[in-house]
Amino acid sequence: MNMEGRRIEIRGTVQGVGFRPWIWRLARENGIGGRVSNDSRGVTIEAFGGDRALESFLDGLRGSPPPASEIREILCLPIPPEPSREFVIVPSRETGRLRISIPPDLPTCADCLSEIYDPGNRRYRYAFTNCTNCGPRFTIAREVPYDRRATTMSSFSMCALCQAEYDDPGNRRFHAQPNACPACGPALTPLSASGEPVFWEDPIRGAALALRADLIVAVKGLGGFHLACDATSAIAVERLRRRKRREEKPFAVMVRTIEQAEALADVSPEERKLLLSPERPIVLVRRRENSGLAPEISPDGNPLVGLLLAYTPLHHLLLADAARPLVMTSGNLAEEPIVCGNDEAVARLAGIADGFLVHNRPIESRCDDSVARIVAGGPLLLRRSRGWVPRAIPVETPFPQPVLACGGHLKNTFCIGLESSAYLGPHIGDLENLETLAAFEEAVARMERFLRVEPELVAHDLHPQYVSTVYARESRRGRKVAVQHHHAHVASAMAEHGLAGPVLGVAYDGTGYGTDGTAWGGELLLCRFESFERLATLRAIPLAGGDAAIREPWRIALALLEDAFPEGPPLDRLPLFANVEEHALGAVRRMLRNGFPLPRARGVGRYFDGFGSLFLSRPFSRHEGQVAFAWNVAADPEEGGVYPYAVDRSVSPPELDLRPAVRAAVHDSLSGASPGTISRRFHETLARGTAALVREAARRTGDLQVVLTGGCFQNPLLTERVLSGLEGLRVLLHRRVPPGDGGLALGQAAVAAASAKESGGA
Ligand SMILES: [Zn+2]
Ligand SMILES: [Zn+2]
Ligand SMILES: [Zn+2]
Repeated sequence: MNMEGRRIEIRGTVQGVGFRPWIWRLARENGIGGRVSNDSRGVTIEAFGGDRALESFLDGLRGSPPPASEIREILCLPIPPEPSREFVIVPSRETGRLRISIPPDLPTCADCLSEIYDPGNRRYRYAFTNCTNCGPRFTIAREVPYDRRATTMSSFSMCALCQAEYDDPGNRRFHAQPNACPACGPALTPLSASGEPVFWEDPIRGAALALRADLIVAVKGLGGFHLACDATSAIAVERLRRRKRREEKPFAVMVRTIEQAEALADVSPEERKLLLSPERPIVLVRRRENSGLAPEISPDGNPLVGLLLAYTPLHHLLLADAARPLVMTSGNLAEEPIVCGNDEAVARLAGIADGFLVHNRPIESRCDDSVARIVAGGPLLLRRSRGWVPRAIPVETPFPQPVLACGGHLKNTFCIGLESSAYLGPHIGDLENLETLAAFEEAVARMERFLRVEPELVAHDLHPQYVSTVYARESRRGRKVAVQHHHAHVASAMAEHGLAGPVLGVAYDGTGYGTDGTAWGGELLLCRFESFERLATLRAIPLAGGDAAIREPWRIALALLEDAFPEGPPLDRLPLFANVEEHALGAVRRMLRNGFPLPRARGVGRYFDGFGSLFLSRPFSRHEGQVAFAWNVAADPEEGGVYPYAVDRSVSPPELDLRPAVRAAVHDSLSGASPGTISRRFHETLARGTAALVREAARRTGDLQVVLTGGCFQNPLLTERVLSGLEGLRVLLHRRVPPGDGGLALGQAAVAAASAKESGGA
């Protein structure tokens, strides 16, 4: 037999996912000698054997790799053979430039679960049980390559039994970096409300008892603390809401099994798949009438509830002992980043939590739960964080230089573009305070370290006052590239789907700074990465009081009415205005009528605010998008009908004019139509107007790919109606990247890279 040699380099998410043991077994099965090692680029194999054995080994590599791994590239080169018959796994070393190899955190696998419930097993009820198929990864990684000493597990030395598992290539825990057991690994400590240790025989049972007694317990999870309470207790949920000052935002509810999820909500097969996916996101589903969940979980008449399945052994054990669904909401004060450290938790969550369940395995990277829902038959990410981060998004056009894109203002994430990959960072939140900015800077620095990259281009939003813009401008690194908000949204969809452009991009959101300094948000763009042309927009609404109009959408409702009824709107017959102070009403009316210079907004979200406020009689919005969301869920699915609209071609770009729809909706309402009917017709009208503009553009540009992007396309009804209006055209939605501002940074990175190429590099 002729011996041959091959060097095989595998790139992708191949570390920390049981990859090397799988290769080791494959090599043994095929009688291959040689070695495999992790390095900062991925995994490198030197394989020696007969050519048929090597071929079958290579086939195996392309076959069925471990479930959590993701192979992006396999390179194979002949090398001189060595007479080795042994196949060994060599320790990690660092070489070359990293293409990130740290996998996302993985939910507890079935094998580990059966161990923690088995009284005969040495890991019975052990909250930190994991193996190569499951457990923490990104959130404990400190350095690359991903190896135990480069994680927050470095201070725990394995006992003889754990070490034997770790060293045995045939074991499920072979090179499982966070491997641990009760004898050698992290341990739980219960703390009182003031942070003093309390002595409970079994901390998990103790915490479960506290939860059953309507108390609030702060539980240290994978990527941060959760605030937990009994989701079936109105007293507990109301108490948490009051203490957390979380006004009216819904709380996520965690259950242990998919069957329990199905008992609380109507779960479709697609939603079931999403709940069970390895990313374990919070999934928005329709709550059942008699679910038993406290109504305060999702107040405000919200028919949806965010459910998620337990994803750590600690969650499983706590839920099993509490024997009820638990609220698991981010452990933070309103608008601050999620809390990670034990001392920080006690300091910042004092006054909210009645007790703490902490442990001594530090969280290195803050990483909130991800949020997803099913839209138009497929998954749509509302927040891409734990479970997805730091997995690379492959891009079609490689980045000519490393790019850092700083994202937007709300729901911020950043993105690093490197070679053929884009790395979206974890959810940071609204960049409204110093704590969030610090979290942003820390997360950017860490991702740059993991990727060994120094950005040469720094992309940011066009808005001069966004904190992310100021950060970018003040950064001493790289060339700065300002990217228009909606251009970035469309580019994000293009990058996600590997489209080179041009495309027709519909970008609908609340607001984004336009090139003319006004607030855009109802945009149809003919888009390339390098440039865009604005083909149509929405008629502008004057915002009386600027941002005050967003908190008090009755001002937007009034602006829509004044615009649509030049003869004077029938305010006295619309119940909304009975709830508005007369003095304020008069002042805003005067501003609107007397040509007072007001900021003008074109965001589709603003129309949702205005219509929702008007027909749901809700003058105020407690948080961003609250009334708009209520207007979406109010729509009666059984209803047909549509309102008239116009397109104003006397202006450039042409404007979709919804004044006829405002008039028709008011008449509908005055003749007794329900808000559900009006909302459904409003959606239909907007969708038809949108489809008409896109079709008109397509006749001019030829059959181009269409993409729907921006936060408004988280709305399933709007999305489905627009898709239906565009039947026959090629239309794509976001699937792996959020359509809202959480996906903005990817588009910024792609635009910045293209503009750098245009100008011949930096
Ligand atoms: Zn496992
Ligand atoms: Zn051990
Ligand atoms: Zn946006």
